[in-house]
Amino acid sequence: MNFDQITEPLDRRLADGLARLAVVARQLDWQAAEAAGLSPTQADILRFVANRPQGVRLTAAAAHAGVRNATASDAVAALERKALVRKCADASDGRAVALKATPKGHRIAQAWPSSFVPIVAGLSQAEQESLFGLVIRMIRQLQQRQLIAPQRTCVTCRHFRENVAPGTNAPHFCAFVGAPMADRHLRVDCAEHESAA
Ligand code: SF4
Repeated sequence: MNFDQITEPLDRRLADGLARLAVVARQLDWQAAEAAGLSPTQADILRFVANRPQGVRLTAAAAHAGVRNATASDAVAALERKALVRKCADASDGRAVALKATPKGHRIAQAWPSSFVPIVAGLSQAEQESLFGLVIRMIRQLQQRQLIAPQRTCVTCRHFRENVAPGTNAPHFCAFVGAPMADRHLRVDCAEHESAA
């Protein structure tokens, strides 16, 4: 007998490991949400809305939080009662409603700890850069397979010029900023993102 015969396939063990990390991150998130008097869904939606000062539709907030529109609507109503989110006319369509964070909502969202920070804190800089590249790749693949809501990542941005200077320290280029980028500079949630689709 050898370990090749008695070990579960690598993809399954990797998936198990990631699932455990996700549970830890979720628990940390819930603890932080509870401390702020919010449910996890309310916390998710508040952060999503606060990061988009131009306003967002309810359907986008629901897709981000991975909940039904009705559940998101209840969460938004609770956030409105707590004076953390307000509804206003959508800038792109005056008949539609957009959600915006209030100053108090912004303050709470900005003070929020990122639940994965303690999880990656033990990795070296080089390990974090390597993992970051893999995370970007996984997000891109999930988007291509339409398994997650659109993300504001460089790799889906119309300003992104990928690998235009191969072999250099910063092979990519952001046409919005007008500067070269390395893999470690890539954004996963950029306020200036404009979809290339
Ligand atoms: S605008 Fe933002 S998302 Fe787009 S390429 Fe530049 S840094 Fe990346």
